[in-house]
Amino acid sequence: MKHLVVANWKMNHTIAQTNAFFDAFFGVADSLPAEIDVAIAPPFTALPQAAQRLRGTRFALAAQNVHWDLQGAFTGEISAPMLCELGVTYAIVGHSERRAYFGETDETVRKRVGGALAAGITPIVCVGESPAELDAGSAFACVTRQTCAALAGLSDEEIAKVTIAYEPTWAVGTGQNCDPAGAEATMRVIRESVPALASVRMLYGGSVKPENIAQYSAQRDINGALVGGASLDPNTFAELLRNAAQGLAHR
Ligand code: PEP
Repeated sequence: MKHLVVANWKMNHTIAQTNAFFDAFFGVADSLPAEIDVAIAPPFTALPQAAQRLRGTRFALAAQNVHWDLQGAFTGEISAPMLCELGVTYAIVGHSERRAYFGETDETVRKRVGGALAAGITPIVCVGESPAELDAGSAFACVTRQTCAALAGLSDEEIAKVTIAYEPTWAVGTGQNCDPAGAEATMRVIRESVPALASVRMLYGGSVKPENIAQYSAQRDINGALVGGASLDPNTFAELLRNAAQGLAHR
């Protein structure tokens, strides 16, 4: 299974900053490991510009969210056909920040997964326990519940098209990354919670940096990373990709 690293820019980078990112990133593109797939998820406003800059490259375009309906009275939402028009091939769904600040629930995550799949977009389904769940010893129960809910009612063929991102919420944007072996163990629990997940890509996310990425990519059952803060600077992100390849070499 080819490794995948996804850059989640969150609410960062204007169109001008997006252009500056790609000017620098493409300047070092020759040094980037070909054995790793890369996707960039800019904010919606920068998607058209990013699409233009990524056209004809090997780098994929991702969205940070997707609605389940094709069109209609859903102020502030973006549909899968709108994303397809721009060449988006991945959509992050159920990110912990959306669950925590914007009322995203297991039910709406499931609907967004369906919207993405129906349009041929790969949903990157984020699951992960909160600090309270970690302390209560219910991390496995939490990720199992979130995973099963996000995939409820889907066929095995549909589930095989999903990517999962395990992102413990206490590690996202905190600088407190999860122990790689512990992350891998939880990801094994996630994979075993739904038989059809046997062959899907599973990413780790949560304070991944150039300094620690190799520890994750060296783990056999980790198939990539979802990266927030360390994806904003083109040189840092390029270094992170190069270091990921070093970890892969030690699997
Ligand atoms: C994320 O945005 O999904 C994320 C993991 O952020 P960070 O790498 O900054 O922790």
